[in-house]
Amino acid sequence: MIQCANPLEQYNSYKQEIDQAISKVLNKGNYILGEEVSKLEEEFSRFIGVKHGIGVGSGTEALHIALKACGIGSGDEVITVSNTAVATATSIILSGAQPVFVDIESDFFSMDINKLNAAITRKTKAIILVHLYGCPAEVETILKIAKENNLVLIEDCAQAHGATYKGKRVGSFGDLSCFSFYPTKNLGALGDAGMVLTEDFKLAEECSQLREYGWKERDSSSSLGWNSRLDEIQAAVLRVKLKYLDSDNKRRINISNIYKDKLKNSALILPKERYDTSHVYHLFVVISDDREMLKRHLQEDGVFANIHYPVPIHLQPFYKSLLPKTDLKITELLANKILSLPIYPELKEIEAERVVNSIINFS
Ligand SMILES: *Cc1c(COP(=O)(O)O)cnc(C)c1O
Repeated sequence: MIQCANPLEQYNSYKQEIDQAISKVLNKGNYILGEEVSKLEEEFSRFIGVKHGIGVGSGTEALHIALKACGIGSGDEVITVSNTAVATATSIILSGAQPVFVDIESDFFSMDINKLNAAITRKTKAIILVHLYGCPAEVETILKIAKENNLVLIEDCAQAHGATYKGKRVGSFGDLSCFSFYPTKNLGALGDAGMVLTEDFKLAEECSQLREYGWKERDSSSSLGWNSRLDEIQAAVLRVKLKYLDSDNKRRINISNIYKDKLKNSALILPKERYDTSHVYHLFVVISDDREMLKRHLQEDGVFANIHYPVPIHLQPFYKSLLPKTDLKITELLANKILSLPIYPELKEIEAERVVNSIINFS
């Protein structure tokens, strides 16, 4: 079966280096927030082009900590989208604030800039901008709207490690940006991990206190911090893989070019790239009018195509019962048509062609 993502193959690509890095940590005896974490924070923040990096437990926690560091909580509203990993909205609820969803643009699956202003109220404190599937969102316009309205901009870069917008990496635009290193992401650990980045020294301090009991100094909590520490083993693995992130992204882009070339005459709508950006193809998401049948057909041919995401957050039971009803036409329409084709750096050309042939035989 050709998987949609394949963290095991990625581990096998760099096995020797990863095993060595893990072994070094094991034999050192410091397993949490040590030298590997500090070095990863330095190297990854430099890679993105931001001053400070704070390693945390997951992408969800990165968002939660970013919101709390800005003082966001009860009575506040945070604007985001509904077609994203549920974690984007979860972090807002965890902070005590209320998520407000804006519909998406059908070309790039991200926040529709024309619908953003209408969602801003006196309670709005922040925007979480998601660069979904590896495609940079319309950062410049949203940054402008955020500034005009005195809103914090937090970038959710969990699917866009290394993607660029007008020559700068995403994650370098917002007041804070949040990354997940879940194993299937473009930069993935062998367990859970995440990071918050910011240019602002004060916010960085706040984040690093929040991730460990609110400690400014040991045993003296100065805020309601909890435990969202990053461990040394994951940091060591990530440092190995970070060296290959750009080349791994190139391999994803190669696969995307095969799909785009060979499926251009198919009935599918293929992903587009925003002007002056680079897409890093965390996912290769097509739009199909016959999604369920196509998915089943691929499955029968040994190809697992997944759906990201089958149920928009505002229609999931917990969020539906909690939040006021919102009308998100494009989000709801696309949720029934989107399909993620297999894409990961180790996917072989011949496997991509198998995917293509299966689709061509279907349509
Ligand atoms: C994966 C993901 C998250 C959550 O990250 P975790 O590490 O799983 O907590 C948040 N937002 C988006 C867009 C994601 O893809």
